[in-house]
Amino acid sequence: MSDSFSLAWDVVVVGGGPAGFFAAIRCAELNPRLKVLILEKAQQTLGKVLISGGGRCNVTHACFDPAQLVTYYPRGGMALRGAFTRFQPADTVKWFGARNVSLKTEADGRMFPVTDSSETIANCLRESAKAAGVTVRTGASLLDVKKMRVGGFWLEVRSGADVLNLQTEKLLLATGSDTKTREIIQSLGHSIEEPVPSLFTFNVKDARIDGLAGVSVENVTVRMDALTQRGPLLITHWGLSGPAILRLSAWGARELFAKKYRAALTVNWLGDVTFDKALEILQRNKDWKENARKKVEAHPAFSQIPVRLWKQLVQFIGDKNWADVSKSELRKLAVELTAGEFKISGKGQFKEEFVTCGGVRLDEVDFKSMQSRSVPGLFFAGEVLDIDGITGGFNFQSAWTTGWLAGSALGALS
Ligand SMILES: Cc1cc2nc3c(=O)[nH]c(=O)nc-3n(C[C@H](O)[C@H](O)[C@H](O)COP(=O)(O)OP(=O)(O)OC[C@H]3O[C@@H](n4cnc5c(N)ncnc54)[C@H](O)[C@@H]3O)c2cc1C
Repeated sequence: MSDSFSLAWDVVVVGGGPAGFFAAIRCAELNPRLKVLILEKAQQTLGKVLISGGGRCNVTHACFDPAQLVTYYPRGGMALRGAFTRFQPADTVKWFGARNVSLKTEADGRMFPVTDSSETIANCLRESAKAAGVTVRTGASLLDVKKMRVGGFWLEVRSGADVLNLQTEKLLLATGSDTKTREIIQSLGHSIEEPVPSLFTFNVKDARIDGLAGVSVENVTVRMDALTQRGPLLITHWGLSGPAILRLSAWGARELFAKKYRAALTVNWLGDVTFDKALEILQRNKDWKENARKKVEAHPAFSQIPVRLWKQLVQFIGDKNWADVSKSELRKLAVELTAGEFKISGKGQFKEEFVTCGGVRLDEVDFKSMQSRSVPGLFFAGEVLDIDGITGGFNFQSAWTTGWLAGSALGALS
């Protein structure tokens, strides 16, 4: 930091991610007289935005009903209910649109910049911050925070080889899943829900899916204890992935962590087809005259199951023709298709999007302003909170919403 760098600020935002930027821009636009600073420990801001969505940045989701929107958050949905009535995906679309960034919607509801480049989003945020007069310091890491008796906060910040002290009236922590900052947050009197990974693939070693990496099934139901998810499933080199699995991993994040990522998984490869219905269809296939001399493994009874997968699911029947399959084999196959048992033996990585659940306890934060209920002047936004969504743009939406609310309160209060 240069000598001319001011050491007293109205608002310091720690964390140059989407939540921090959104809050700083909103605050500075609302109240241009305020001196607003973003501190970012990395050498560049918005690192996750740049790598997000496979470099395309899945900015939000085309779900414009707050009541429905909250159902996509395994943790934090309740707290976000009111927040989404103030700033929701429609507002995100408008916000970027007003800055000449148009978003498009894909068939599954995910929204991306029309340029298909996350740079568009990062550049828009950086330019908006600059235009609003926000100062951004990269390579500046928050080391410690003390509440001052007279109000405001005293910050210890490492910048290169230097350690500086700054003062600020209001402090927003938008530090994502950073573990060191969590200790600072606890030292300020806040509680942290234990952080554990969310949104991951399942390691499954099983002969029925061996060698099938890349095969996908459009509509599958997966179940783990009381949790059920439906959607596309993808077989990978290590096990199972795809939207149905990722959603299950998010809802079961804590449970799976506690079980050290070893659990039983039930797969209905036919989506919502019941055992009885599957058995009826299998019986019909067996009874069809034209099927009598056809091999079971080469003639699937269900078009939604890829032939390569079908072959491995029916392996236990052997080289039989449809007419020769026994009643018990048909029943066993119906079970295999509608309630196949698999063993999860570990956690994989989902490179497109990875989030952590856990963070600042939500009942300690006022979701109208994102201000701490116990430390006046202290605010939180983004993934630092115990909020996480399933994959699809919901995690950024929570960062935009909580950032915007915090920025609005900071701009109005100061
Ligand atoms: C590979 C990947 C792809 C993703 N893709 C998507 C997607 O397409 N859509 C979606 O909705 N979500 C996606 N996510 C999730 C999304 O990126 C996060 O939910 C979101 O970035 C959270 O925003 P944030 O501002 O709260 O935190 P972050 O983006 O993590 O930003 C926090 C910032 O604070 C800084 N910081 C931390 N501690 C300090 C400190 N002590 N001092 C100074 N600075 C500090 C960090 O360096 C960081 O830059 C993806 C995540 C990953 C990892």
